[in-house]
Amino acid sequence: MKTQKSIELFEQAQNFIPGGVNSPVRACKSVGVSPLFIERAIGCKIYDADGNEYIDYVGSWGPMILGHLHPDVVKKITQTLDNGMSFGAPTELEIELAEMLTESISGLEKIRMVNSGTEATMSAIRLARGFTKKEMVIKFDGCYHGHADTLLVQAGSGIATLGIPGSPGVPESIVKHTISLPFNDIEAVKKVMAEKGGNIACIIVEPVAGNMGMVKPAPGFLKALREETTKHGSLLIFDEVMTGFRVAFGGAQVLYDIEPDLTCLGKIIGGGMPVGAYGGKKEIMDNIAPDGPVYQAGTLSGNPIAMAAGIATISQLKQPGFYEELDKKTEKLCNGLKQAADNAGIKVTVDHAGSMMGLFFTGNDVNNFDDAKTCDLGLFSAYYRGMLDKGIYLAPSQFEAGFVSSAHSEDDIEATIKAAESVMEEIGRSH
Ligand SMILES: *Cc1c(COP(=O)(O)O)cnc(C)c1O
Repeated sequence: MKTQKSIELFEQAQNFIPGGVNSPVRACKSVGVSPLFIERAIGCKIYDADGNEYIDYVGSWGPMILGHLHPDVVKKITQTLDNGMSFGAPTELEIELAEMLTESISGLEKIRMVNSGTEATMSAIRLARGFTKKEMVIKFDGCYHGHADTLLVQAGSGIATLGIPGSPGVPESIVKHTISLPFNDIEAVKKVMAEKGGNIACIIVEPVAGNMGMVKPAPGFLKALREETTKHGSLLIFDEVMTGFRVAFGGAQVLYDIEPDLTCLGKIIGGGMPVGAYGGKKEIMDNIAPDGPVYQAGTLSGNPIAMAAGIATISQLKQPGFYEELDKKTEKLCNGLKQAADNAGIKVTVDHAGSMMGLFFTGNDVNNFDDAKTCDLGLFSAYYRGMLDKGIYLAPSQFEAGFVSSAHSEDDIEATIKAAESVMEEIGRSH
């Protein structure tokens, strides 16, 4: 595999951009390779600057559930673009997307558009604090909710991968209001709520965790969060930036039948454009400016091109059988990967929620971040590099989820399994 051009571009980029990248995990540090510079992508295929072709399981970290350049999405964006790019004034497209989203998720009565997942969670936390008039926030180790100060406590992916325990620049006076508990630990939640419930504004959780690898909620965990927050007058926030319209139409709250007070969305609802959103019951959302006193704003929020991409994407997801088919494909891939590892005598734990999947290099069940950290990162790196070499583009970290899109064909899945068989055998031998 020739990667000369990417290597040159990375050297150039480092002259002008910190670390050569605009988001840290893209630097591929933990897997010891130079990042590929991407030139284009179509369907489930992605092409780097040297012209190499890969089957893409990153999907821009989740948004591309239809694959790249889906014709209907492109058409809607192009039509919208003809009328201008941004007005900073309301447009009908914003109503259309808001209506689609509120119809899809039962607890979502009103929704506010922002420009990223980070903004969505940050604003939801502010709203929860403003609404409850309480200060503290509970989150879970290994869950990532974007990089707002309050939530940058023991966060997952980027931070876990780089081995930085939090971040300089985040004042202690801010994070002292945040409590981070082990994911799936119902008893820990009950204990903290019993002691501090009177000052807990909210519990925020990824209902299916995707930023410590993919970890499902244990039976009863989400229900316990619902009960505990209700009991103590705190809000439950589901951060469905990744899981929304990924694990099921709507999201994890539909899949697990638990209704949070506030929902954060992003990724898929922007169809590949920069988008985030947060919403919930009218009673709570009416506290946001201009209706209420909790301030939140955005120059480019509700951008017409982003709304168009979101509308076109969600329209496709409504088609009957869309999620069933995606689920089946993902199941087949997971089984194939597990088999490949088993054949090579390599211990892995593989699982998926809809088309969101995780492969951990450990024989243990993974129920929280501590479990995830027991993985063999050396094996993961070898696997990552081997797969890349065979034309399979995976997220460059053990602590990231993988995504299958409707553009992946049976042949693509089979080619991926075949690649994994040979890579697993290779690393099994040298292990
Ligand atoms: C990606 C992600 C975010 C952050 O979204 P950005 O658009 O990167 O700011 C927040 N929460 C979860 C669960 C995510 O997966």
